[in-house]
Amino acid sequence: MNPVVIAVAITGSVPRKKDNPAVPVSPSEQIESTHEAYEAGASLVHIHVRNHDESPSSSPEKFAEVQDGVVRHCPSMIVQFSTGGRGRDPGLRGSSLYLRPDMASLSTGSVNFPSIVYENHTTLVHDLAGRMQQHSIRPEIEIFDLSHLHGARRLVDAGLMDDRPHVQFVMGVENALPADEHLLDILLEELRRLLPKATWTAAGIGCHQASVMEWALRRGAHAVRTGLEDNIRITRERLARSNAEQVAMAVEAVLRHGRRLASCPEARAILSLPPHAGAA
Ligand code: ZN
Repeated sequence: MNPVVIAVAITGSVPRKKDNPAVPVSPSEQIESTHEAYEAGASLVHIHVRNHDESPSSSPEKFAEVQDGVVRHCPSMIVQFSTGGRGRDPGLRGSSLYLRPDMASLSTGSVNFPSIVYENHTTLVHDLAGRMQQHSIRPEIEIFDLSHLHGARRLVDAGLMDDRPHVQFVMGVENALPADEHLLDILLEELRRLLPKATWTAAGIGCHQASVMEWALRRGAHAVRTGLEDNIRITRERLARSNAEQVAMAVEAVLRHGRRLASCPEARAILSLPPHAGAA
């Protein structure tokens, strides 16, 4: 009964309120949605913040507000800030790391997205990794391409990261890695060769969310990822009602695979984090 971390990506950076009003946008909506997801079984929350018009924000005040609310209402839950970003000034993507969330996402290379190039210049990657190291933040390495695994290994070799990061394979983003089970095996084989101590998860975007989760659980993933950032639908016809509803579906998948949910303290141990919430 190997425990599984359930990560919930509550909001994302693409404006979606018009497509699904359940997407939380204001810090108070985000805290409430995270609390519901926590009660449903999530042990890690991945956070983007937004401006009033839903455009992506880098505001440290907003990140701090959501972080404080989660720490207060969801004891021991792992707080992860996004440093990614469509529509964010690259120079501001690390501007909230001084708040010392437990974790932060880190992309180690550039890739084509549906309508933009998601640019992650080596200088920016090194700067973000260095800040995470300085503030004792554990990175979650976002893999949008095989070469990004090699980018992660180079950070280890440069002394900018330890050799047991948490790695997330992101599948199903148009123009990037397709959602393909065979491809996940190739990525895992390369991960085991380059970073054998890493923990891992996989995120399926849009209609691929459930199938990628199945493939990951079948292969012993340390974590699964769900949430409205990646997918706003339950079926083609029905919108997701909340992040908590998606977490409940992830819980069912975990149990179906003969595994159990990690408690927050267990999730911290699995991901090599200290036992207590690391609020600033
Ligand atoms: Zn994100």
